[in-house]
Amino acid sequence: MNTLDNIKIAIKHAMNSEFYQKHFSGINVDDIRSMQDFQKLPFTDKEDLRDAYPLGLQAVSDEKIIRIHSSSGTTGTPVIIPYTQKDVNDWAIMFKRCYETAGCTNMDRIHITPGYGLWTAGIGFQAGAELLGAFAIPMGPGNTDKQIKMMIDLKSTVLCATSSYALLLAEEIEKRGVRDKIHLRKGVIGSERWGEKMRKRIAGELGVELYDIYGLTEIYGPGIGINCPKQSAMHMWTDYMYYEIIDPKTGELLPEGSTGEIVITTLQKEGAPLIRYRTHDLTKAISGKCECGSEYPRIDTIIGRSDDMVKVRGAIIYPSRVDELLATIEGVSSEYQIMIDHMNGKDILTLFFETADKDSAYNLEKTVEYEFKERIGITPNVKAVAMGDLPRSEKKSTRVFDNRY
Ligand code: ZN
Repeated sequence: MNTLDNIKIAIKHAMNSEFYQKHFSGINVDDIRSMQDFQKLPFTDKEDLRDAYPLGLQAVSDEKIIRIHSSSGTTGTPVIIPYTQKDVNDWAIMFKRCYETAGCTNMDRIHITPGYGLWTAGIGFQAGAELLGAFAIPMGPGNTDKQIKMMIDLKSTVLCATSSYALLLAEEIEKRGVRDKIHLRKGVIGSERWGEKMRKRIAGELGVELYDIYGLTEIYGPGIGINCPKQSAMHMWTDYMYYEIIDPKTGELLPEGSTGEIVITTLQKEGAPLIRYRTHDLTKAISGKCECGSEYPRIDTIIGRSDDMVKVRGAIIYPSRVDELLATIEGVSSEYQIMIDHMNGKDILTLFFETADKDSAYNLEKTVEYEFKERIGITPNVKAVAMGDLPRSEKKSTRVFDNRY
């Protein structure tokens, strides 16, 4: 069967849900005869899913649902995703494939720090580790003392964490001088956008190889793609999903190699299938076959979210560009925060960055101010702070706080 046939089966199934009956009302699946027809279907956005609360996305009868997960509703109504036994099994199969791609085996001891519960992260890391036959250590987040003690005593070999929590642990291990008691060899890090500088720090301080794992709660959870040892782009498990890269402004499909938003259609999901789901994650497709020999297509590391992009005094600012800029300045750490305020009729951007070099703080501030103006186009207020002053988070870290609205 070709891609279009698979997609049509997925659409037909999705239309069993209350949500898609409404969202695709007036659409006859048999009229979809080409990929161009498919690309005319309306997108599904997170806001639409909120409107389907609580169970409008459910596409099978109750006796087939075995569990739900929910995406963190930072604003208002959460999104609830029901899973069938097949969905849970498929997710574990994809996750096992991720661990294998990263070179993990059943001899590894996998230290899992992402949260358990409604959030999909912890349990996904766990199910994949168990299917692999590895030794799972289901820590969950928090309690750094205990994390480090268990890591030493149980000789954990693989750390699963968000990038900001991996950094926090790396810093603590360094501070306590216990690096030689740590047995980690790999880090499998949740797909937050993170700069090269942060990656190098975590890899260097922990002495591990790092892998970026991709996923989102609406589409199973983490584990739908990961990079391989050959390169930083992520292989995507396209037997379970079809993806497109679109222009986030116009919604048009972009030519291969252009940066845009990744839009995902689930091909095998039973509980809550999604068609043309807008992830708001920005990336680009990488062409050609990977040196590792895998047939699975690749996308580049996520460079940011289309909704993280902010406009200040006419300049468009992507957090990833700020990452890159700070990475080029000696003495500036990877940790920073941007505050945008509106005062006296003017937008003010303040950039805080961490540095270990107190004596050079003033000069570093001037350098960052100059480079920011040169490369991004506006002059920020720049403030150096001490290492560890900015918050580290166990979940995804927020870099930009827009206080204008
Ligand atoms: Zn590869």
